[in-house]
Amino acid sequence: MNIENKVVIVTGGTRGIGFEIVRTFLKNNARVILFGSKAETVNKALEDLQKEGYEIEGYYPNLNNFEEVNNVIKQIYSKYGKIDVLINNAGVSSNAKIEDLTSEDFANIMNINVNAMFNVTKAVVPFMKEKKSGVILNTSSIVSIYGQPSGSPYPASKFAVNGLTKSLARELAKDNIRVNAVAPGIINTDMVAKLPKEMIIPLINTIPLGRIGEPVDVANAFLFLASDMASYITGVILPVDGAAKN
Ligand code: NAD
Repeated sequence: MNIENKVVIVTGGTRGIGFEIVRTFLKNNARVILFGSKAETVNKALEDLQKEGYEIEGYYPNLNNFEEVNNVIKQIYSKYGKIDVLINNAGVSSNAKIEDLTSEDFANIMNINVNAMFNVTKAVVPFMKEKKSGVILNTSSIVSIYGQPSGSPYPASKFAVNGLTKSLARELAKDNIRVNAVAPGIINTDMVAKLPKEMIIPLINTIPLGRIGEPVDVANAFLFLASDMASYITGVILPVDGAAKN
């Protein structure tokens, strides 16, 4: 995939899909820096990957604080002299009904799923522009296409992710920066384990490939989009969902 020695930042890299993205890029000899929400989970992820023999570092800036994010990004750039790939993967979900949701709940989901993505992207773009090269990949969701019957702030946030992706792809194309998103279906992670069985089982029954996805299914799509094999692909929301419709 020609990703060797590329400097790759992955937010939400401590578990689930993000952890598998980190591992997949490490396997392909990229230089990976993972972000998580706190020291404890970042250190645990680093330890696990180091035990597997990988060289990896991690940070836990508050993604909603632009200055904090910007300082860490500057630190990474001064260490490596480039940032080739940013993967905005951190996210939180919801399955609450509108009557049980507050505007604070709505804001919390938008803050991590959209504002944090904006902050990290804004911090990285000047360095990519300087090199006239870069790839920004965002984790969307199939709910960004279909919506879902509860937890409305979550699909709302993922529709916004698609908006950022398509708009920045057009804005940054002249700087040779590609911007794409991967839209996973139901993937076997903690986020899905927390959802009620009554919600998941009927969904699995509608998946033509007959199974929920594994994090590595999604990680491989990120690897392809980050690689030079996707050199003419930008502004795309790529479903990785076993042809599910919900
Ligand atoms: P997960 O809950 O296992 O992991 C979420 C990651 O986001 C963790 O690494 C966590 O540290 C990070 N994160 C959460 N809140 C954060 C915060 N406030 N600050 C910094 N980091 C924070 O979830 P997952 O299933 O691996 O989801 C990863 C991405 O994939 C999310 O964007 C999610 O919306 C998306 N997604 C997941 C599924 C699925 O079925 N699992 C489907 C579609 C999209």
